[in-house]
Order: sequence, then structure tokens, then C-alpha cells
Amino acid sequence: MLRRSEPRVIKLKSPREIGLMRDAGRLVAQALDKVRQMAVPGATTADFDEAVAAMFREHGAIPLFRGYPSSMKGKPPFPAVICASINDQVVHGIPNRRPLREGDIVSIDTGCKLNGWCGDSAVTLAIGEVSPQNQRLLTVTQETLDLAIRAMGRCRYWSEVASLMEQYVKSQKMFVVEKFVGHGIGQDMHEEPQVPNFVSPALKKNDILLEPGTVLAIEPMVALGTKDVRTLDDGWTVETKDHSSAAHFEHTVAMTREGPRVLTYLND
Ligand code: MG
Ligand code: MG
Repeated sequence: MLRRSEPRVIKLKSPREIGLMRDAGRLVAQALDKVRQMAVPGATTADFDEAVAAMFREHGAIPLFRGYPSSMKGKPPFPAVICASINDQVVHGIPNRRPLREGDIVSIDTGCKLNGWCGDSAVTLAIGEVSPQNQRLLTVTQETLDLAIRAMGRCRYWSEVASLMEQYVKSQKMFVVEKFVGHGIGQDMHEEPQVPNFVSPALKKNDILLEPGTVLAIEPMVALGTKDVRTLDDGWTVETKDHSSAAHFEHTVAMTREGPRVLTYLND
């Protein structure tokens, strides 16, 4: 997690730097697309992890998640290149060799640094046919991200966007997980500011101006039954307290003079 530093400094990126971030973001998108193609019943999240690690290696990119220090005392650093969070797991799940089953939903989050610049994106995938509630959860979470990206083109401050995200999730009788938030991104994966998916007190006090050069990782996490989460003993895996399903979608988005530009789309 990010530590709050005062005064907060948001590093604005030039058009050239945003272009370099697009290259990193495209590679992350290609990695997630590869996982999407592999995501069938019987596949394992360890297979996904190996495929993404190989792809980053081939392109000379540095994986951003492996070795990331735990925020919990005495816990090991993150051991993999992707996070894979299944069903009631929200984020930071560790890939393993258990075969995925028809009806599972699995959130895959990954990031890399290419030529000194970072990309970060996540998607929740359906394994085979999933329940109508889980399908609805995926749709609503994806729509929450999409509406946020569109709103960035007409809102001056992030709190306006966060309010729309929060209201939309509420209107669908689902819950925004508040414990984890998006972030600024650039030469480091986690830069200032923190980017909540709801209007937090901290955001009200210190709002984010959506000016050209601002690059944010926008990442709504939505659960069916609660916003409350707990971290497992492994020091990483976050699950919903009521074991209801959760989904997570993320894009790296740059504000430009022409409006928001998604740097982690597969195609322009
Ligand atoms: Mg991410
Ligand atoms: Mg992120």
C-alpha cells in the first residue's frame, strides 16, 4: 500500500513519456489476453503465471509484482508475476496448481516495467459458464471502470468520477471494496496520488486535478455481499469477509489534451 506523503507530489508525464508508458501498457494487455485464451476449466493459475513471466522475459520487461514487499510484518514478498484471486478472493491471490473449475471467476492482475516505464492492468475472467450473479458482478465491475474512464473526459476532479463509480455500484446493490485503491503510476508502479473508487474523506480534503500529464491506475474492486475484507495468513490473499464473490478490473489511464487515453488496451 501507499504511504501518504505530505505534501503530495503528482509527477506529470510528457506526451513522449505517455507514449513509452503505452508500450509497457500494451505488453501488459497482451499478457492478459494470453491468460484470457488459457482460462478454461482444468487450467491452473500457475500456468497463467508462467505464461506471463515468459512473455515479459521475451520482451525484456521487468515484472513488477514478484518480490514486492508485504505490508504485513514478517510475511514474505509476493512470489509471482501475476496476482490470481478466485471467487471470494478480491486481490493479491497467489497463483497455484489447483485446476480451475467450471463456474469459477478469477481476477488476474499484472504489471511490468518496459524501458523504464510501468503498466498495470487487471481483468476478472469467467471459467466456462458462471452463475448469473457472478456474470452480473463481472459486468457491473467492468462497467464501473468504463464509466470512470469516460467520466475522466468531462470531470475536473477525481472525486466527481469516484462519486459516479460509487453511485453506480450502489444502484446495482453491490459493494465497492474500500480497503484497496488505485494509484498514480509512471517510472514506479505506485506513485502519488492514491485513487479511491469512492469519495473518501482524504480525497475530499485533497482532491486530484485531472490535468494533462496525470497518469492513474484506475481499479474498482466490487463484491456481491459486503465491502469488508480480510487478509489470509499467507500475508497476501485478500478475501471478502462474507465469502461473497468479488471482481477487479483495472486500466492505466493517461490524461492528455485530447482527453483520457487508456494505455493498457490491447489495440488503439
Ligand atoms: Mg494491478
Ligand atoms: Mg494497480
